[in-house]
Amino acid sequence: MFSEQSKVGKVYLVGAGPGDPDLITLRGWKILNKAEVVVYDRLANPELLSEAPESAEHIYVGKAAGKPSASQDQINNILVSKAREGKTVIRLKGGDPFVFGRGGEELQVLAAEGISFEVVPGISSSIAAPAYAGIPLTHRHYSSSFTVITGHSINKDGFPQDWKSLAKLETLVILMGFRKLGSIARHLQQAGKSPSTPVAVIEKATYGSQKVVKGTLSTIERKARELSTPATIIVGEVAALGHHLDWFNKQDGTGQTYAPSERSFDHPKIPALAHS
Ligand code: SAH
Repeated sequence: MFSEQSKVGKVYLVGAGPGDPDLITLRGWKILNKAEVVVYDRLANPELLSEAPESAEHIYVGKAAGKPSASQDQINNILVSKAREGKTVIRLKGGDPFVFGRGGEELQVLAAEGISFEVVPGISSSIAAPAYAGIPLTHRHYSSSFTVITGHSINKDGFPQDWKSLAKLETLVILMGFRKLGSIARHLQQAGKSPSTPVAVIEKATYGSQKVVKGTLSTIERKARELSTPATIIVGEVAALGHHLDWFNKQDGTGQTYAPSERSFDHPKIPALAHS
């Protein structure tokens, strides 16, 4: 029998999914249900916090208006110290924790500190955003591969990205690139991609307020001017298919075909499993 003192803490690195709280995995949801501490950042939908027990401590480590986000060191320290207190710690991250989520860095620290951990993958915005815009990332006639890149590392003085190589790829999924959209579109054209290549920008994918704007490499900067972050950019022939396959934002006179509430998350029972 373990006494309270000898209870061993553990960190669960859990993908929260892209936005709609229903898109967390069943495993992530079950683990959240037994959380003692939830450490979450900006892109994890805060509605998910209500799935943790009422007694759970919530620690926000994302950016707040006018304030910088917690540093990676501070986050690591929180995870280590809470786990050392013997707590069940959920590190909740938007999308998938290993897709531009620094999940690997956090686990390296935990491993070095001898703290046990588990990873629960999440539905990444890199696949959810196109899915909710009706854009199949692969399609037998248009695209046999897709590549997920960050727009973030592009600075104004140079081309850390190998644009010549990127321009040859069939389908690009660009995260953290919205503020560089014009520059990305220009670089790809300069590197040989046709100005008529279809591009789609999906803002707040899977939320009720999702917006999708479509254009081409030569028009997208102007067309997407009204959008804001978080946004995912898709470049390639498949981006044009969203026109016909759009199901989420479809306005066909009857309104949206599917409209999750921005606020509600009330599925204590998951219907698909209720009878298993
Ligand atoms: N780990 C996350 C990605 C973190 S990087 C994942 O797997 O989804 C953050 C970037 O993800 C944002 O800049 C944006 O490009 C994208 N993103 C996250 N949530 C999004 C959403 N709901 N809609 C559109 N893009 C999103």
